[in-house]
Amino acid sequence: MSDIKNSLSIIIESIPRNVLLVAVSKTKPLPILKEAYDAGQRHFGENKAQEILDKCPNLPEDIKWHFIGHLQSKKVKQIIRYTHLIHSVDSLKLIAEIDKRAQAIGKTQDILIQVHIAKEESKFGIPVEKLSSFIANTMDAFPNTRITGLMGMATFTDNERVVSKEFATLKKAFNLIKTSYFNNNSSFSEISMGMSGDYKLAIEEGSTMIRVGSSIFGSRD
Ligand SMILES: *Cc1c(COP(=O)(O)O)cnc(C)c1O
Repeated sequence: MSDIKNSLSIIIESIPRNVLLVAVSKTKPLPILKEAYDAGQRHFGENKAQEILDKCPNLPEDIKWHFIGHLQSKKVKQIIRYTHLIHSVDSLKLIAEIDKRAQAIGKTQDILIQVHIAKEESKFGIPVEKLSSFIANTMDAFPNTRITGLMGMATFTDNERVVSKEFATLKKAFNLIKTSYFNNNSSFSEISMGMSGDYKLAIEEGSTMIRVGSSIFGSRD
């Protein structure tokens, strides 16, 4: 068995069946992605618009592309026809642009709202305290955009208690938003949390979607 096929099956066997594995293929070349595809992987994650544009036309059409990185509004138009799910939406400006571009091609774009749960300073993600009002202001305003859940990244640390606590914070925020704004509607259903180093903890705290790169493809340069 190839290393990639082997790594994929080890991860898939170790996670619950209702947790989706997004294989984060950023920086990796086409033959590597093809190898994962041939092993049965269909969901891939990229964090640069240009990489999606370079890779999509050269790989099978049944791949579901996840955009997981910071997305500049000006890049939305280029990638909107390829994206199955955009995980990293954290501004009104970005949702408005996604909605406009989705409408132009007759699509409803599924998105996740990125929430800032880590201790590290970051420009990205809505602070937990501001999440409710952000959702209230956006959920019905954009007909071609559907908010299907939340995404978060934990602090980069070996301290598992810190990481688990941050994931629990995201799960709690998810539950609150689901009951307050989505009437427990099943379309708001995803919690994208967990990477190579912490996906086991994330699943314990309720993740429905893990984004794993280096544990499948090896470390990036
Ligand atoms: C790169 C990246 C990942 C995957 O990281 P690994 O540690 O290689 O599994 C997950 N999520 C986001 C947002 C990323 O940018």
